[in-house]
Amino acid sequence: MRDNSYHNFTHVTDVTQYMYTLLLATHVAERLRPVELAAAYIAAVCHDLDHPGLSNTYQNNENTELSKRYNKESPLENHHLSVFGRLCEKHELLANLPTEEEKTRFVDIVHHMILATDMAKHGLLMKKIKEKLNIDGWHPLKSEEGINLILQIGLKCADISNQARPWKVANRWNEAVYKEFYHEGDLDRAAGRNVAPLFDRRSNMIPTSTVGFIGYVVAPLYEIYVAIMKRCAMMDEQVDAQAVEECLVFLQKNKERYQLQADGQYVDQDEEEEELQNFAVDLRTKIKSKEEEEEEKTKSKYPGINGLQQQDTIRILMNKIKQHSKHPPEPKFQPE
Ligand SMILES: [Zn+2]
Repeated sequence: MRDNSYHNFTHVTDVTQYMYTLLLATHVAERLRPVELAAAYIAAVCHDLDHPGLSNTYQNNENTELSKRYNKESPLENHHLSVFGRLCEKHELLANLPTEEEKTRFVDIVHHMILATDMAKHGLLMKKIKEKLNIDGWHPLKSEEGINLILQIGLKCADISNQARPWKVANRWNEAVYKEFYHEGDLDRAAGRNVAPLFDRRSNMIPTSTVGFIGYVVAPLYEIYVAIMKRCAMMDEQVDAQAVEECLVFLQKNKERYQLQADGQYVDQDEEEEELQNFAVDLRTKIKSKEEEEEEKTKSKYPGINGLQQQDTIRILMNKIKQHSKHPPEPKFQPE
């Protein structure tokens, strides 16, 4: 990963950890095949590989090599997939999957998940899920298409989960996001192009923009994830939507605080900070007990593998990616 202010190795680690927690806390992890679970984590690890810190809009306006290579169609996400393909070959990631069907399933999930992180596709994906939820009896966990949708939305939630965290964490990520956006805006200005409002350090108001982002993008995304989890829970009582619903509390609290800032009002941080920290500790305790429960189940189901070994595997893989993706060679193949 490159050393961008936002799209860097810390972001990738953060998103992977969030994906892991989402799947575990909702009990969806227990309903997936091992190959599906592995693909979900690898997609999170690889979802921003070699991100240049400049958006798809910039790539296309500047007519960069990536934009030309992918014909202006999700240039960044296609590039992340391409680097993923090379890493798969180099480290023979698929070698231990015993059947062709599993190899295909693994790659299919990673492709669906990474391509879904392009925000230009956000509206279409949300529409598709709403249509599915309108079908009586649709059980998302009973088909590969349904599982793909759960994993796509899960990764999208993880990818923009900054505001679903306690204030101090959320605000720090927000500063990193806008640092990267403003750098892009500066390049646009220098090139004589119009600077998009969110990217313009001269006019953008971060609190106001963040209120809009939470209200129009992040909260509706989490709400649809809750709706899918509730649908799963109707069909399968083990599935738990509560953990995702709890994220909505942080979103609301942070939105209110940014609104106060936007209105120029003083925010007493100490009292609310303590309340949020306690909430976070409660959530971590719940997740920890679920992790222990999961560990016990895994031990009895797969005697040779335990959760710690799975985490070790992910850590080793991430280290390898960190070492090898700094200066990736030109791709050997391109997606169709
Ligand atoms: Zn990302």
